[in-house]
Amino acid sequence: MRSETAPAIRLEDYKPPLYRIDKVALNVELTPNATRVTATLQVKRQPDTAAGASLVLDGDELSLAGIRLNGKTLDETAYTATAERLELLSPPAEPFELTLVTELDPDANTKLMGLYRSSGTYCTQCEAEGFRRITYFLDRPDILAVYTTRLEASKAECPVLLANGNLAEAGDIEGTDRHYAIWHDPHPKPAYLFALVAGDLAEVPDRFMTMSGKDVALNIYVEHGKEGLCDWAMDSLKRSMRWDEEVFGREYDLDVFNIVAVSDFNMGAMENKGLNIFNDKYVLADPETATDQDYANIEAVIAHEYFHNWTGNRITCRDWFQLCLKEGLTVFRDQEFSSDMRSRPAKRIADVRLLKSHQFPEDAGPLAHPVRPRTYHEINNFYTATVYEKGAEVVRMLQTLLGKQAFRKGLDLYFERHDGEATTIEAFLACFEEASSTDLEQFSLWYEQAGTPVVSVETEYDPDRKTFSVSLSQEIPPLAGQKSSKPAVIPLRFGLVGPNGEDMETGPVEGAKVNGDVLVLDKAHQDVVFQNVAAAPVLSLLRGFSAPVRLNQPLHSKDLLFLAAQDRDPFNRWQAVQTLAMQDLVRLAGLVREGADGVPSEDVIGVLASVLDETQLDEALRAQALTLPSEADIAQEIGKDVNPDAIHAAREILRRAVATRLGPSLLPFISGNSAGGSYSPDAQAAGKRALANRCLHYYAASGADDAADLVWSRFTSADNMTDRLAALTLLVHDHMPREDEALAAYRKRHTDSSLAMDKWFMTQAMAPGDQTLERVKALMSDPSYDAGNPNRVRSLLQSFATGNPTQFARADGAGFELVAESVLEIDKRNPQVASRLLTSFRSWRALDPQRSALAESALLRVSACENLSRDSRDIVDRTLQ
Ligand SMILES: [Zn+2]
Repeated sequence: MRSETAPAIRLEDYKPPLYRIDKVALNVELTPNATRVTATLQVKRQPDTAAGASLVLDGDELSLAGIRLNGKTLDETAYTATAERLELLSPPAEPFELTLVTELDPDANTKLMGLYRSSGTYCTQCEAEGFRRITYFLDRPDILAVYTTRLEASKAECPVLLANGNLAEAGDIEGTDRHYAIWHDPHPKPAYLFALVAGDLAEVPDRFMTMSGKDVALNIYVEHGKEGLCDWAMDSLKRSMRWDEEVFGREYDLDVFNIVAVSDFNMGAMENKGLNIFNDKYVLADPETATDQDYANIEAVIAHEYFHNWTGNRITCRDWFQLCLKEGLTVFRDQEFSSDMRSRPAKRIADVRLLKSHQFPEDAGPLAHPVRPRTYHEINNFYTATVYEKGAEVVRMLQTLLGKQAFRKGLDLYFERHDGEATTIEAFLACFEEASSTDLEQFSLWYEQAGTPVVSVETEYDPDRKTFSVSLSQEIPPLAGQKSSKPAVIPLRFGLVGPNGEDMETGPVEGAKVNGDVLVLDKAHQDVVFQNVAAAPVLSLLRGFSAPVRLNQPLHSKDLLFLAAQDRDPFNRWQAVQTLAMQDLVRLAGLVREGADGVPSEDVIGVLASVLDETQLDEALRAQALTLPSEADIAQEIGKDVNPDAIHAAREILRRAVATRLGPSLLPFISGNSAGGSYSPDAQAAGKRALANRCLHYYAASGADDAADLVWSRFTSADNMTDRLAALTLLVHDHMPREDEALAAYRKRHTDSSLAMDKWFMTQAMAPGDQTLERVKALMSDPSYDAGNPNRVRSLLQSFATGNPTQFARADGAGFELVAESVLEIDKRNPQVASRLLTSFRSWRALDPQRSALAESALLRVSACENLSRDSRDIVDRTLQ
């Protein structure tokens, strides 16, 4: 039988549930292969539901081992049960108690959804629809229940027993080698926030005093021997808790907050109420095994999951179409937190880079969807950059349009009005409308329309009238399934930069609403005129990336050079450098493709080289400015008939030219900014290392006689992972003489750290050069490779498919074939990891005809597979559409 596409679920079909489940008591008797779950549900008919209407519960690969209604075993004629569904044919009209017994095999659960075991530890993942793999349930986020969970397990196997909420009771079971614990969570929550953990774990304890003086026990649970790797995560947690009190007035609400780190996890982390479960990659860190980026990611993810306690848990989503309600808002909150902890402009640049490299291609290709989708076949495939990152940009625009004060007022109203509810985007926006007396109907289009708006700009200065005219227009290019679109509300932060580099004061503005430095574009076309403009300005537009749009502003290169040197907005200064580099890279790629010699523009070399001396910019910013647009970004800019080899060559040409210009002047930055004294992960020290390593990256391409030796000595003498990995990456990606020796030395040193070994796999998977494909194949049979571990699969195959454009899109199609084959293999055990890997094909139509034909045939091969999972079927169908 051919795998079927799951039926489409549509937002417009939402109906409130016929029954409610107010209380859930779970008794979970844990054994590796035959765990018994007894769920006792207090069920209530909704007032509008006809008495006797059947109750349909969701299941997924379940088998029913017992069913009782109000304590009495049910006759077989009273219900039907399959693996996917339990139907109670005529339930009592009055509230009743339904008891269900299911038996699970956690060891055999390779999908890592529901209850499974990772390195001997039982854990759960229930978002989005994993709870139905534990027991039959109304598994939808608008069913909020109070959970009491009793866990029982062997004392030797599982000394630690954890669930949501507060610990109510624990003890031994007499006459056996087993013990139990009862956890009670007083906050009603949807099933996707349910969690349990049981295993032999070490506990790292701490405490936090909330703003109202409540003493909260904090614990991080990790594998024994890894206690020393939790300091940064714990520190990040305490800073997150304090920050959420200070900035948003949100206080923690249970006696205990537990975090558990597990090594096999499909996602980054999960915000289960009071019991966050983390991919260990976002908890464990020390200077020996974690880079500065890892430290920053841990800080951000710990904060993100903690912030969900209010935005997601206390107030949750009515249905899965509202996913952005919790994710977009919470990503915005974690971005703000990290900006307060670090260099705000550098953080903004990093976020925008991520948005442009992940979300923009998604929004332009076959997988495009609105921030709030209207239809889905498999919700697991909507944990996307659009829902998360673009969702956060929409919240940020709301703040920009309303101003910080009114935004905070709206958010306070949201917390006050909807606490304890499962709600919608409409209800969220209504709070801001009310708090600010602003009509947000047109703004809500950001949630409804897919695609990235293109904003086109033309300007003209009239020296006689002293007017500056700005002609603005917006358009979303047509997409499959969205032929036309309506004009959105686009906040454009701007400055008119005068000849001396200062922002100019102007007289009245006609043709658009302007609030301070924000101009609002809300029509398809607007002509805006600034009066009393003393001299011809350069328009610095979209400062701070105030809206997720593509800007089509044909600035003359002399104006871009001026902004690159003068703009007082650090983001737009960076953007001007990027734009100059991008224009030249596109031109160079075209030349390379024609077989001509590409010579970079002197101006571009000059502007990049001059970044080093901009000492008024912090090191993190200078490192960002010296980072050329990625190969994927250049491909997007080119848009069609893409040849990844030409792009790679163009980027190397520009890198070498800048390196040659800078030459020995790079050396003081390399040595001067290297870690002095003991390692600290703080933003300033990390910025120094980032700049040093960026300079080393150029020096390696400078042709200097001592470059190879310098990189090697950096590799061998580094006292932290950031510097060691930067040097290793150069040795491997530039195919320097001691490449193999470096890989062997790294492996020997880090063989016991799976997180450090992930970087070893990743570095090799992303190496340019034709030999990489064979190397990746060989690594798949390496004893350290584990096809069941999502982090390891991502470090090798996802890195290859998304981080190595020349080799994934090889002209002979072998890269596509390898990934397609791997998808088919992985899909059998873990559909979520497989479907995620499959999304790396999303831009296949933009490739040159030869490559796109090869990509299509690889996709067709996946599509032809019988028994493909729902997850992968959905992605392959949409990608080929
Ligand atoms: Zn989240």
